[in-house]
Amino acid sequence: MDIESLAEKVASGDRRSLSRAITLIESGRADHRKQAVALMERLATRPEAPQALRIGLSGTPGVGKSTFIEAFGMMLTGQGLRVAVLAVDPSSARSGGSILGDKTRMEQLSRDPNAFIRPSPSQTQLGGVARRSREAVALCEAAGFDVVLIETVGVGQSETMVSEMADLFLLLLAPAGGDELQGVKRGIMEMADMILINKADGDLKATATRTCADYAGALRLLRKRPQDPDGFPKAMTVSAVEHTGLEKAWEEMQALTDWRRTSGHFDGRRAEQARYWFREDVKNGLLARLDTSEARGDMARLAEAVAVGDMTATGAAQEMLSKIGG
Ligand code: GDP
Repeated sequence: MDIESLAEKVASGDRRSLSRAITLIESGRADHRKQAVALMERLATRPEAPQALRIGLSGTPGVGKSTFIEAFGMMLTGQGLRVAVLAVDPSSARSGGSILGDKTRMEQLSRDPNAFIRPSPSQTQLGGVARRSREAVALCEAAGFDVVLIETVGVGQSETMVSEMADLFLLLLAPAGGDELQGVKRGIMEMADMILINKADGDLKATATRTCADYAGALRLLRKRPQDPDGFPKAMTVSAVEHTGLEKAWEEMQALTDWRRTSGHFDGRRAEQARYWFREDVKNGLLARLDTSEARGDMARLAEAVAVGDMTATGAAQEMLSKIGG
């Protein structure tokens, strides 16, 4: 594969080349990995690499993520923006099946020439999901998309993963009684820049307004973050079906982004994220070295030696570490 010309086509915004590039970075084959690294380097070091707004979106199944992304995405493309949608689904790492990828989703948006939708790949390990997603985000950005939406489900570590690759993190919730509030973990509330209560329409409208007020109250109790202007994080109601509140939500996202750009928090956060992913990659690389048949054999042998008292745990661990240290 000619990496040089693939990089050029991706940079020109060609969607088919972008798809091919994502397939390349998703591949686990060693030769593909090499090409992928070369491609990413090539795109990252271009003099005028464009910058997208990366928006993470999380919510439990059924809350209306696909409906919201379709409506919100169409609104953005209607304003002349190019929108990419990526799904990060760690459930596929465990079960091989994807919560986010199975149904036909976002039909209208997927036909929009200014949109690009990529379902979550099935993966074998969580570290791999993170790296591939992150690289896919970077590829969409290099392809000149103005907004990259990164969707995930509220399971396990996926929110942390997505918030570490996003500039803004949105939490989509359904209208519910008071006890739902306790159901959202504090850590996730703290990650959210905006909480959107979806389905604020018809019979659910009043409940949605109440739920929104509850969350607004809960957000006010959180410590004010240096990266936020007054009034953030914010709770709002939207209806993905009736398309209400979407423009207002987008205005708030832009206001927050502008503030962070001016104050330097935007670039600061990206630098922090780059450091985070560097450390994660090193950790995952070390873990991968334990995942060979030779290493597994050594581990078993040393564990046995420790168990029968031939070696101390410390000594055996040191021997193992020097083996994988190369
Ligand atoms: P996801 O699993 O989070 O992607 O949720 P979906 O987008 O598939 O939506 C789940 C269900 O909620 C579907 O039946 C949607 O029609 C419905 N839904 C989504 N958004 C809204 C909304 O704004 N109002 C109402 N009333 N229903 C909605």
